Amino acid sequence: MTTDEKFASIVAEATEWRRDFHAHPELSFQEYRTSAKVAELLESWGIEVTRNIAGTGLVGTLRAGKAAEGGNRGKAIGLRADMDALPMPEMTGLPYASKTPGVMHACGHDGHTAMLLGAAKYLAETRNFDGTVHFIFQPAEEKGGGGRVMVEEGLFTRFPCDFVYGIHNDSRLTTGHFAITYGTTNAAADTFAIRIHGKGGHAARPHHSIDPVMTAAHVAVALQSVVSRRIDPIESAVLSICMIHGGTATNVIPEEAVLEGTVRTMKAEVRDDMERLLTEVATATAMAHGARAVVEYERGYPSVVNSNEPVDRARRAAAALFGQERVIHDRPPTMGGEDFAYMANTVPGCFIRLGHVDPGTERFSNHHPRYDFNDASLEPGIRFWAGLVEQELVDEQK
Ligand SMILES: [Zn+2]
Ligand SMILES: [Zn+2]
Repeated sequence: MTTDEKFASIVAEATEWRRDFHAHPELSFQEYRTSAKVAELLESWGIEVTRNIAGTGLVGTLRAGKAAEGGNRGKAIGLRADMDALPMPEMTGLPYASKTPGVMHACGHDGHTAMLLGAAKYLAETRNFDGTVHFIFQPAEEKGGGGRVMVEEGLFTRFPCDFVYGIHNDSRLTTGHFAITYGTTNAAADTFAIRIHGKGGHAARPHHSIDPVMTAAHVAVALQSVVSRRIDPIESAVLSICMIHGGTATNVIPEEAVLEGTVRTMKAEVRDDMERLLTEVATATAMAHGARAVVEYERGYPSVVNSNEPVDRARRAAAALFGQERVIHDRPPTMGGEDFAYMANTVPGCFIRLGHVDPGTERFSNHHPRYDFNDASLEPGIRFWAGLVEQELVDEQK
């Protein structure tokens, strides 16, 4: 079998796995079926599997060359895929649409998992490298930070890696194009809840009450001046209020109203400023209306910062396989969060975006009820993972 034939047969299998995962999506930290299937497949190819890291997370370890003969592990790299789906109804009408009502693979993690499995199968069959590769299948990227929990449970002390790489599909890039960029790729993603405590009463006698609903409206407007007036315009920050709740009747001023939303930032200093300013503006604005604001600010995933060395290595691998024209160096970062951040904060890492929009077509964005991972990006994804391993893990004494 030629290399092309081998890839073609693996891509065909990966397409089936992908659609099977798509039909059976599982929520964060509940990827039992997915994780069992991944482990079974890896073991069937002779890859050593360590289960139950962060619950449903697992690592497949493959050694080849001198590293397989014991003793020195040689060079080691980690390749990461995420396995979880989202709590939303699917509207694609596809033959392999979700069989679980209210749960959907709307971010393409089904594709990421199938892609990494395809590379694992190829590398287990060919073993044309010298060193150790850890296939990291993480739970709960969407909610709960499975990547963080894996790191906390000693991912990189148990499976030391010189570098760690992750791939996410990108609905704004052409299929088979790789955006590999220096520095920050994803924002820090925090959430907040602001509780406005007023004084309930009759709607006809507002002067006997303190109106938390009207105060919440002022707080919502006042907060919009934080990014525009208090943060350096050269920096990036987003503050979105996504929920306002309060009241039960048209003639009752309630006791309380709640605003909830998210803050996205690129830099640690800006993140600190946003937390401080949000708290300050919310409490002072509430006070101006005689109410009291209590702010809960919860820090979520930190920003993903790519290290220079793995960026250079990933670019080299992608250019060697697909040509320079398919490697994008200047893709701007996104304000979306990613828990690959915890891995890249521990080991020098590189987060790569793989285009999945065929030329002349449009695709629904991630998290849309009609989103579907493009199977046409399995082939470049699998080839990239395999090529990166073969490029990175070479016996330098040879
Ligand atoms: Zn997502
Ligand atoms: Zn995602």
